[in-house]
Amino acid sequence: MAWNNLIGLEKEKKIFQKVILEEKLADAYCFLGLEGIGKDAFALELAKTANCYNPIISGETISACDNCKSCQMANNMTHRNIQLVFAQPAADKLTEKQIEEIRDQMAQKIEDPYHRISIANARYISINSIRNIKKKLAFSETSGRQFIIISNGEDMNIEAANAFLKTLEEPRKNTTIIITSSHREKLLQTILSRCQQVYFSSLELNDIQNYLEKKYKKNNNEARLIAAMSQGSITRALDYLDDDMNSLRNFSVDLLRIALRRKNYRMELIEAIEQILGEKDKQLNVLFLNIFAIWLKDVYSVLVLRNTSNVVNIDLLDRTIKFSNGFQEANYLEAFNLIEKTIARLNQNVDPTLAYLSLFIELRKIFTGLTY
Ligand SMILES: [Zn+2]
Repeated sequence: MAWNNLIGLEKEKKIFQKVILEEKLADAYCFLGLEGIGKDAFALELAKTANCYNPIISGETISACDNCKSCQMANNMTHRNIQLVFAQPAADKLTEKQIEEIRDQMAQKIEDPYHRISIANARYISINSIRNIKKKLAFSETSGRQFIIISNGEDMNIEAANAFLKTLEEPRKNTTIIITSSHREKLLQTILSRCQQVYFSSLELNDIQNYLEKKYKKNNNEARLIAAMSQGSITRALDYLDDDMNSLRNFSVDLLRIALRRKNYRMELIEAIEQILGEKDKQLNVLFLNIFAIWLKDVYSVLVLRNTSNVVNIDLLDRTIKFSNGFQEANYLEAFNLIEKTIARLNQNVDPTLAYLSLFIELRKIFTGLTY
């Protein structure tokens, strides 16, 4: 994986390539920004590039060759100079099963650097992890540049953070420490003040869409819908990969179609809701409404902005335009409000069938004015 495989972040790529070329890497950085935009992936790529034996250099750009021994080790996460530190289960000794789980998570991270490492009961980065770093730094005599990447630095518990602070206070030659975090407010001020803070920009919808199409072979429509759901976070987008977004969306648009019928809608609406809810858990129930809201926002942007370039569900464009023409007077903002309220209620564990039913009957009122 070279820079090109990292999505977006063009400004950051430019800056750091220059820094590598001028050999001006700082002792410590904090990479800050939204969750799931690739801060870890960026740190790994930076470390690989700085350690590559045959980097490809042209003007102000430098990129790892992805071929040499060093790059291969970096790509397999076995490089002696590159350490990724993340939360692990609290225990003096890990069980076979836990070690297996960590290996599996690492394998997934290698396969896709945007993968969110998630290990059961791993709540924080403990002082043991920090001690291991110190030990490693004390004995290392390797060539190249050492990189310690603390993923989600806010996961350090207070003991670990204080121990880590000492490491930051004693910078070492040829060593760069990178803390990544999407929760700046949870980092110790003393740690922040000893790092160069770099704010990463968020990703564009198109960038995420392209990535899902290229890497996960999602078709154009589905990739766009998932990208819209992800709110600029690749990691979040990956959470939706296994869901059949198009079906969920078509179901939700159908529910509204049934609810807006002149008469005899109620029985069919209840049946349709039960059929949809029957096979889903709470998370999916919420996801379903989020997808529905995105389609309704398409209707709204066609109607109010007279603009189809922002439309997410391009494959439904005809239907969306038709719908917006049919319901020009409706109070869309109230409809969005209602959907949000229903999502909040679902999160509070209200009965989902009732919540859905009351939402769609309310939407019926908003769109048709019918109160029966
Ligand atoms: Zn290389």
